[in-house]
Amino acid sequence: MKIHMSSPDISDADRQAVQEVLQTTMLSMGPKIKAFEDAFRRLTGAKHAVAVNSGTAGLHLCVRAAYVDAGDIVITTPFSFISSTNVILFEKAVPVFVDVDPLTGNMDPDLLAEAVEDLSLGGEAARRWLPRTLPPVNQNLLGDVRAILPIDVFGQPADYDAVNAVASQYDLAVIEDSCEALGGEYKGHAAGTLGDYGVFAFYPNKQITTGEGGMIVTDDDQAADFMRALRNQGRAPGDTWLQHTHLGYNYRLDEMSAALGLSQIQRLEELLRKRARVADWYAQYLTDIEEVTPPQLVESTTRVSWFVYVIRIDENIDRDRLAQVLIEEGVPVRPYFAPIHIQPYMVKMFGYQRGDYPVTEDLGDRSLALPFSSRMIEEEVVTVCQRIADALVKAEKLE
Ligand SMILES: *Cc1c(COP(=O)(O)O)cnc(C)c1O
Repeated sequence: MKIHMSSPDISDADRQAVQEVLQTTMLSMGPKIKAFEDAFRRLTGAKHAVAVNSGTAGLHLCVRAAYVDAGDIVITTPFSFISSTNVILFEKAVPVFVDVDPLTGNMDPDLLAEAVEDLSLGGEAARRWLPRTLPPVNQNLLGDVRAILPIDVFGQPADYDAVNAVASQYDLAVIEDSCEALGGEYKGHAAGTLGDYGVFAFYPNKQITTGEGGMIVTDDDQAADFMRALRNQGRAPGDTWLQHTHLGYNYRLDEMSAALGLSQIQRLEELLRKRARVADWYAQYLTDIEEVTPPQLVESTTRVSWFVYVIRIDENIDRDRLAQVLIEEGVPVRPYFAPIHIQPYMVKMFGYQRGDYPVTEDLGDRSLALPFSSRMIEEEVVTVCQRIADALVKAEKLE
């Protein structure tokens, strides 16, 4: 039995959908991308859906649509996959981090409210939230807070009632990184529709895959037009192939990927159900292992969309040693997330140190993502849990 960290779930119908595109002459900018977008509008209830070639590209277009300029501040968290911070840096804006809720890993709304208030006051009050150092480009260029970028960590939406209250008080855009939460719900509302813009991602370990790909959803007509233009080299509606109204990118999704996505999204309920079943097995077989805390769900999450299964390991266990033993035993595991603020380039740019975001660091130090996909069978989950129980003995820290 070879256990995989994750694996895509591709059906015969999925393969057939891609084959059909390959028999046509339209490999890009054809009917599949539109059909894929329409499926997302129906699924989420959003007015617009804009397909792009990665979740990162989608987040970047949202940052542009929110008119985040060089020096502007965007509030986000360091407990995320790297791209939610990188898209802010692409525009030479300054990501200001707030720490996260220890239960969910999502943005702490109280810290958000405090940070926005202090940053709007400026001076000494603001300093507490700003990084120790700023890159040269920002030293004489530090603007106002422009946007909030929360992450729906591990498939569980952040607290958007609280986030949106702050956003409306200070007139800020909310960009929802829902790249891990397709199909999730917050108080009955679809993940991705909880801020001004929401982004999904379709890398092969996500709930649905297109190989590489992403989708933006929004109700904002103007923003949708603008983002469609930017994904296609800045060609605005009415522009010809060699006319470019804006500085744009090639963030287009090709037709094979869109066809795969369209076929996969029709299977979303099946895929989410299978993932939930695997999560249930984990919860069941981990209950007797004292040193392990399973993922924690909060009441506002009326539906979790299982993306990964991340456990927390007790402090008296050497997490890295445990991971090493498990990997040697054929169980792939991974710390997840690795905090963003202590990545080498972030330390260099902003002078962050360990200790700056203690909750994020604690989660980062004690987390372990277990093998997880819709294709896992019960026997594999049993094996993983058994090997965790065995390996814990070897990883016990000596006092
Ligand atoms: C997957 C993911 C993304 C986007 O990733 P891409 O590889 O660019 O599609 C962004 N944010 C989070 C939190 C993610 O998990």
